[in-house]
Amino acid sequence: MSENELNICKPERWGIFSGTERPFLIAGPCSAESEEQVFKTAKALKENGIGVFRAGIWKPRTRPDCFEGAGSEGFAWLRRVQQELGMKTATEVANAKHVHEALKAGVDLLWIGARTTANPFAVQELADALAGTDIPVLVKNPVNPDVDLWLGAVERLQRAGLTKVGIVHRGFSVYRHSKYRNAPQWQLPIEVRRRYRELPLICDPSHIAGNRAYLQEISQQALDLGFDGLMLESHICPEIALSDAQQQVTPAALKKLIDNLVVRAFDSTDVSYNENIDELRNRIDQLDDELLNILSQRMRMAVEIGRYKKQKNITILQAGRWEQILEKVFRAGEQKGLEKELLEKVFCAIHEASINKQTEVMNELKN
Ligand code: PEP
Ligand code: MN
Repeated sequence: MSENELNICKPERWGIFSGTERPFLIAGPCSAESEEQVFKTAKALKENGIGVFRAGIWKPRTRPDCFEGAGSEGFAWLRRVQQELGMKTATEVANAKHVHEALKAGVDLLWIGARTTANPFAVQELADALAGTDIPVLVKNPVNPDVDLWLGAVERLQRAGLTKVGIVHRGFSVYRHSKYRNAPQWQLPIEVRRRYRELPLICDPSHIAGNRAYLQEISQQALDLGFDGLMLESHICPEIALSDAQQQVTPAALKKLIDNLVVRAFDSTDVSYNENIDELRNRIDQLDDELLNILSQRMRMAVEIGRYKKQKNITILQAGRWEQILEKVFRAGEQKGLEKELLEKVFCAIHEASINKQTEVMNELKN
């Protein structure tokens, strides 16, 4: 799939968002639990300026004893939200039956959940069921950090003729949660943006965070990275939510969060800004050139060492020496204000490349 082949329509033309400005917002409870919970939440969200209401009708829960959604009965509640509040509605679909029911019920936007995106058979089934419609569909990232699998799902929908397609970044599963429930690994949505600049990109801070305390910082970061919109979970009474209680906020708290967001422009026509930024970027480009020169010198040095070790019949890896290098780098880096995490990543990558180079040298037939 090349960028030219993507036939994507921008969110402002999906017919569900009233404004044309980012961030495009979708909010609502994790699951539709009852008519009262759906309607009260939707009404409060509407009063707080939200136009697109999300609610899971079917919930893919990890354990069988968790609340798995109200099921088809909930469509009548979403219908009421459309009719009485004039809001658009969104729900998750995971198989062809879900698609048929959601289309029949007149839901305005569908999303494909993270567990479903990870399964190409399921995504193809959805694409086949959706063929012939042009309902907006959002593809959540697969639970595993695989950009191709994520974009593969987009491609399946595209081939089915859908043009109102976007993706949702909701973070990636980890064995042990650190601060967040799902690791954001921002470099993945950034990579998607690099490949397909036009593909609408929405962030789901609720499922990244797993805790309402972090929603603001994640939402802001997404906007600063140029995301087009946000999908946030909001419940009229989060404490008693039947799923994802900790990460949901009241409609009032959601409004506060949105009001606190700073929406920065992609670009500026200001002449002095453009001159200054060009100069700063030139300096970055020069530094990148220097980095490249130094890297290439270091690689040549690794080859030289590899040849010498080969001649003397010495192993490539000396754990003690590597340990020493890392310690020295961390100490010196700290004084220069560089974070250990960055140094570890950069130097491990350099060391690995250097070992690979030396292995090549060792295995050369003759020198
Ligand atoms: C959801 O949006 O409630 C949901 C189940 O999300 P995900 O597929 O990202 O886990
Ligand atoms: Mn949820």
